[in-house]
This record gives sequence, C-alpha cells and structure tokens, in this order.
Amino acid sequence: MIITIASGKGGTGKTTVATSLALSLAVDQSLPPLFLDCDVEAPNAHLFLHPKLADSQDVALLIPSVDEAKCTHCGKCAEVCQYHAIAVLGQRTLVFPQLCHGCGSCTALCPEHAITEVPDRMGVLERGQTSAGISFARGVLDVGEPMAVPVIRQLKKWAVAQPGQVVIRDAPPGTSCPVVETIRGSDYLLLVTEPTPFGLHDLRLAIQVAVELCIPAGVIINRANGSYPDLEAFCAAQHLPVLLRIPFERTIAEGVAQGNTLVEIHPEYGHDFRRIFSHIARLI
Ligand code: SF4
Ligand code: SF4
Repeated sequence: MIITIASGKGGTGKTTVATSLALSLAVDQSLPPLFLDCDVEAPNAHLFLHPKLADSQDVALLIPSVDEAKCTHCGKCAEVCQYHAIAVLGQRTLVFPQLCHGCGSCTALCPEHAITEVPDRMGVLERGQTSAGISFARGVLDVGEPMAVPVIRQLKKWAVAQPGQVVIRDAPPGTSCPVVETIRGSDYLLLVTEPTPFGLHDLRLAIQVAVELCIPAGVIINRANGSYPDLEAFCAAQHLPVLLRIPFERTIAEGVAQGNTLVEIHPEYGHDFRRIFSHIARLI
C-alpha cells in the first residue's frame, strides 16, 4: 500500500505528519514502512527520522554531445527538439543541458550520426535505515538543476518496497509536475491543510490532482484552533473525510523546530495515526 502525504503549499506540517505516520506504523507493524522523501529540491525528513544512509546512486539524464567533425549544421536536431535545448548557430551546434529532457529525438534523427548521448548528473538517491527499523530513501536534486521529476521517478524505481511493506511518500509542496509524479501510483492521498483562506485555496488545487489521478483522499487539518466553516463545508461537499485535527500548540511548534516528530512530542498521537492507517486500509 502506498500512501502519499501532500499539501497545496509549503509549511503546513506535511513532513510532520508523514514522519509521525511512519513512526506510528513502525511500532505497530511486523514490517516497518518504507519512507520516501520525494521533496527532492528541499528534502528534510532525515532531520526527523535520522536514518543511517548506507547506499547511494547518481541520477543522470542522457544528453546529446555533438561531433562537430561529422556535423553538417543541417538544423534537423534543432527542429525536432521541443525544448529548444539544441541550436545551430552558423557553423556551431550548441547543446543547453539544463533545457534537455533526454528524450533522444535529436540523436535518432541526426542524418550524419553526429550525436552521441552522454550522462549528465542531476542529483543523487540515498537510502538507509532508521533506529526504528524504517527503510528510508530520498532524492536530492543538485543545486541549479531545474528538473525534479526524473529524480523522483528514479527514486520510486530504486527504493522498492518488500512484499506487504507500507510505503509512505512525502511529496514536495504545491501541485506542479514533481507533486503529480510523487502522487502517481499511490493508493491514498493524505492532504495536510490549515484552516485559513490560503489553506482552502491550496486544498482545492491539490484535490483536483487527486480527482484527475482517481486516487481517494482524506484531510488532516493542522493548526486547527477555532473553526473555519468554509474549509469544513468544502470537505463535506467533496466527500473528503477530515481524519485528524492537530491544534496549534507552542510545545508542538518548539518541538518540531528542534527536530522532533509529533509522536515524540505527544506520543498519544500515535493512536490517531494508527487509526488513520486502519481507515485507509479498510478503504483500499
Ligand atoms: S542533425 Fe546532426 S548534422 Fe544536423 S545539425 Fe544536428 S547534429 Fe549536426
Ligand atoms: S535529447 Fe530531446 S530534449 Fe534533449 S536536446 Fe535532444 S531532442 Fe532536445
């Protein structure tokens, strides 16, 4: 079973929920879960779970390299490239690696066979174990690299769950391509939001992704002091169950800022996360 934790925007407590769910299941299940930190532009789950990383693998795209001795500067490669990642300027053919998606079209269509493909590193995958027995893996996008999706896709292939092992994916914030790639293939989407107009706005966007991918979803409201009727009304209208409300408390904020998970600050939440897991398991 794959559960993805996401939120329409950053700073809602998504990683707090994801890490606490993982720790709650680790004490309850015979096989502790596999945790994937898919927020490859700013991975931070390791700060809470403290895995011992023991294994790594580079992520690279195959990008074109042009042999100028063979190139006739015919321009066919530039014509076929949808991303303007290769251009012919006079008597030179230039490749712009940061725009290249590694599709291979230019290589396939070059009439002079002047293009070969060379690996271009864009990030790294790392994995290990936590003291609680959680299998942990994360992707880290190199600084300046614009494309997170290939790193997330490779992470999902590289860190494979054992039979019967629950997978928890911590998604990047937002609703753009890296989030969609993280959610794709999940069995359930747990959306973390706040009882504010901004929280509701971003929840509306996030739920559209779940609907398009046909993935059942539930909501956790963080900093849930007081009520915000518009959010409750939206969840009711969308048949989105509100699975947990976490109030804003100074002890939680301070504990999280010091690198503690919610279930370490308030162990009683472990029961709530196991209840949420049972709800999801019954549904799937
Ligand atoms: S298609 Fe091949 S020969 Fe033509 S410009 Fe591109 S690299 Fe050169
Ligand atoms: S591999 Fe694809 S994206 Fe990259 S330069 Fe060639 S055609 Fe463009």
